[in-house]
Parts: sequence; structure tokens; C-alpha cells
Amino acid sequence: QSPTPLLHMSGVSAGYGEMSVLKSIDLDIFPSEIVALVGSNGAGKTTLLRVLSRLINCSGEIHYSGTPINHYTPDQVFALGMVQVPEGRQLFDRMSVQDNLLMGAYHRRNRSEVAQDLERIYTLFPRMAERRKQIAGSMSGGEQQMCAMARAMMAKPTLLMVDEMSLGLAPIIVDQLMDVLVSIRAQGVTVLLVEQDIHLALATADRGYVVETGKIVRQGPAKELIDDPALQQAYLGL
Ligand code: ATP
Repeated sequence: QSPTPLLHMSGVSAGYGEMSVLKSIDLDIFPSEIVALVGSNGAGKTTLLRVLSRLINCSGEIHYSGTPINHYTPDQVFALGMVQVPEGRQLFDRMSVQDNLLMGAYHRRNRSEVAQDLERIYTLFPRMAERRKQIAGSMSGGEQQMCAMARAMMAKPTLLMVDEMSLGLAPIIVDQLMDVLVSIRAQGVTVLLVEQDIHLALATADRGYVVETGKIVRQGPAKELIDDPALQQAYLGL
């Protein structure tokens, strides 16, 4: 594996006011990996994403491509290509699919490149191409999730952070979304997949981290984690 991680977190702690949530997190993501961050409700997954998007402060070290980013603003990390697909999609419901996608590129100056990317993203998400004029809020949950992912891709991410992608969606739709993630990675984008559904996430990821009450309790190749008897008992109901 490449010795320089794209994302390196070491001893990262964070919380809300007096309440400590993340306790000394160490986590690395290497270029072109799909890494799953899994754990139950309230384990601290969303808090970790908030730290990475610089929405809340933390102690410890975060490096992106070797650069310390602890004191970056949300805009600065976004400009580095750390882009989130938020839980609940958060689309502009009354706007068309295409306008949602263009909102993902609002900060980009080179409009002809944006127009080219739009067509490239439509190739990756053919369903969105068919629906480009449809009002986003009128689509199915799975289509809305695709739209949120397509919008994030319009921001030219280097690290795509996907929060609870599978929530409330039928398994067949989730399978399609997972295939899309694999295609996204094939385009050179690194993926952090944050999921409560541990089996689902580990089935697609290369490596995984299991978080429990704000600490990483297990990490390793996804296949090894799936076969780990302790995890099977705790999370997979086996
Ligand atoms: P979920 O999948 O349910 O979102 P999670 O693993 O993402 O779970 P977090 O949302 O990070 O967990 O929550 C971790 C802890 O931090 C929980 O105890 C939660 O109540 C608390 N918490 C989250 N957001 C806030 C906030 N804005 N203010 C205070 N406490 C918060």
C-alpha cells in the first residue's frame, strides 16, 4: 500500500461543549481505497464527518495529502476536494435534477469544464440523465440518493464522504448505489463510506473501521472484519 495516506487522523478527539464524543481516533485512508466507517447509532460516525468537514473543532492531527488541515475552514477543505454526501441527501427539492447537479459545481469558475463534467456525470448516472428536467423532490428515495451523489461528484471530489447512503432504501437500490461507488472509485476518487449497516458497507469496502462510543475498536481488511466472530456476534446477529 502507498506509504502516504490521502487522509491521516491521529489522536483526534472532539465533542459538543462539555460532552466528549470522539476519543483519540486514529484513521488512515489511502488513495483510491473504499474505506467503511461502521458502528451503531450514536457511535460518533456523523461527528467524525463533521470534524473532517471542519464544522466542529477537534484536538489531535488531521492531514490531507500531507498538509495539516486542523485549522482549515469548511470552504478550504471543500476546495481540497473533501466532499460530503450528507445523510438525508439534502437536495434542493424544488429544483430540477440538472440544477441540483450544477449547484454542486457552483464554486468552479471554468464553466466549459463544468459543462463537460455534467455530461461525464450523466454517463456515470444514466438514470439522472433521463431525469435531468425532473423536480428533485418528486423522485424516489433511491433516485434522490443518486442525485445527491451525482451533485457531490460535480464538485470534483478527491475524497467522497458518503453518510448513511442506504438508509431507508430497498436492497436492490442499495446494490445499484454500491455499484456506482465502485465506478466512482474507478475514476480515481477515494471513498469514505459511513454506514450503520456494517455488513453492507464491509461487503463493498476494501478496509473498515468499527467505531463504538467514540473509539475505534476494530480495523482491518473488510473481508477479515466480516469473518471476525466478535463482530458477527455484536453486529451481524450471527
Ligand atoms: P447516527 O447514525 O445515529 O447519526 P452516529 O454514529 O453518526 O449515529 P453521532 O451523530 O456522531 O453518531 O453522535 C454521537 C454522539 O454525539 C451521540 O451521543 C449524540 O447524541 C451526540 N451528538 C450528536 N450531535 C450533537 C450535537 N449537535 N450536540 C450535542 N450532542 C450531539
